[in-house]
Amino acid sequence: MSSNPSRGRIAPTPTGYLHLGHAATFWTAAERASGGTLVLRMEDLDPQRCRPEFSAAAIEDLRWLDLAWEEGPDEGGPFGPYQQSARREFYFEAWKRLRDGGFIYPCLRSRKDVATAAQAPHEEEPVFPVAWRTETAIDHATPEGRNWRFRVPDHEEILFEDGLLGPVRRTALQDFGDFVVWNRDNVPAYELAVVVDDIAMAITEVVRGADLLTSTARQILLYRALQAAPPLFAHCPLLRDEHGRRLAKREKSLNLRALRERGWTPEQVRVEAQRLKT
Ligand code: GLU
Repeated sequence: MSSNPSRGRIAPTPTGYLHLGHAATFWTAAERASGGTLVLRMEDLDPQRCRPEFSAAAIEDLRWLDLAWEEGPDEGGPFGPYQQSARREFYFEAWKRLRDGGFIYPCLRSRKDVATAAQAPHEEEPVFPVAWRTETAIDHATPEGRNWRFRVPDHEEILFEDGLLGPVRRTALQDFGDFVVWNRDNVPAYELAVVVDDIAMAITEVVRGADLLTSTARQILLYRALQAAPPLFAHCPLLRDEHGRRLAKREKSLNLRALRERGWTPEQVRVEAQRLKT
């Protein structure tokens, strides 16, 4: 048992190999939780996109980076294996709570419908049109067959103090709209699963990439609906190349395996990641 009560986590999605950006974020997460507990959680919910070989590769790469976790897939721990695919019952429980509380509604509009309807192409992401909202429905026993959307509080400003970026502000219906908590193909959505898990795993600070800042605003609404206190948040700058392009777009050449095969050391990865921080 450590004396520092902080609990951080690293949460890769095994849809491909880890790259430089992951290394930078995970090191930051480990440093900020140092002296406390670090949890490894495999976010392998989507059976269409996630593959067991990428989970295994991620663990190998994390070890190569010299990251160590106290709780996670191969350690067991008080909450069972931290693989989202093994935790569907917890997401379903949360879905029922949101349904009973009147926070969510079933929706047959696809992501493509939403993208087509978006007024402003420059938006970070298309905002679900308010006109498409439907009534909440407490008579559904399961989420199957529909997207389920969380009804955001109209025009509310969500403010939080980011541990790395300072104050962050997002406005409901402007920066983001009613968002999916359960997908039509019966896969719990990222926003819901991550909040349920961060609560269950008693995470005190969430460290992740700055591409998820708007997600954090959505997740703060989910914490409120589920009557849990949100953790602290720290968002790491995204890595960009000399032309300002996001590195994730060149994932293949910069994945950690490719670099390792080219003879790089973890220390070189660290230096390069530092250089590419925006
Ligand atoms: N699994 C997500 C990703 O790989 C990160 C989720 C999070 O840290 O909240 O992008």
